[in-house]
Amino acid sequence: MISLEVSGNVIQVEDHILSFIKEKRQLLFSNFESGGMLLGCIEEGTDILVINDFTLPLKTDTQTRTRFIRNKNHNKLLRNKWIKSGGTTMYLGEWHTHPEVDPNYSSQDFRNWNDLLKKSNTFSGYLLFLISGTHYFKIWVGNRKNKKLKLVYRGEFD
Ligand SMILES: [Zn+2]
Repeated sequence: MISLEVSGNVIQVEDHILSFIKEKRQLLFSNFESGGMLLGCIEEGTDILVINDFTLPLKTDTQTRTRFIRNKNHNKLLRNKWIKSGGTTMYLGEWHTHPEVDPNYSSQDFRNWNDLLKKSNTFSGYLLFLISGTHYFKIWVGNRKNKKLKLVYRGEFD
């Protein structure tokens, strides 16, 4: 599990999410970008935000070697998970892959993330943005109040 601290708030990312994303790395030239939502909840009796679920790429998404555009069908999945969990599972951000060793966000990613910080309907004051390269992955946290983006984690796949 990855534990992050953002302005005194603890955010945890469960290992099974990283194991899945690791399998989606673009190790071959023919691999397309993958992505989806990061989902989670506030751990009962605490203020800890736990990322414990995600959505997988859907057939309706746009996937090329250098592009991933999430289709709105992910919102339906989120809604189902929200209902099933009794209203505790919420939207907490985005993940996607890049065909590069050590990933950085593109100008398109930056614009998308800013839009999401403005428009997302969630209880969380923060959104997490994870990009997986072929050897490293990075997590940025966006603050929904001041729209600031901060790199909070750089991990290496073994
Ligand atoms: Zn990107």
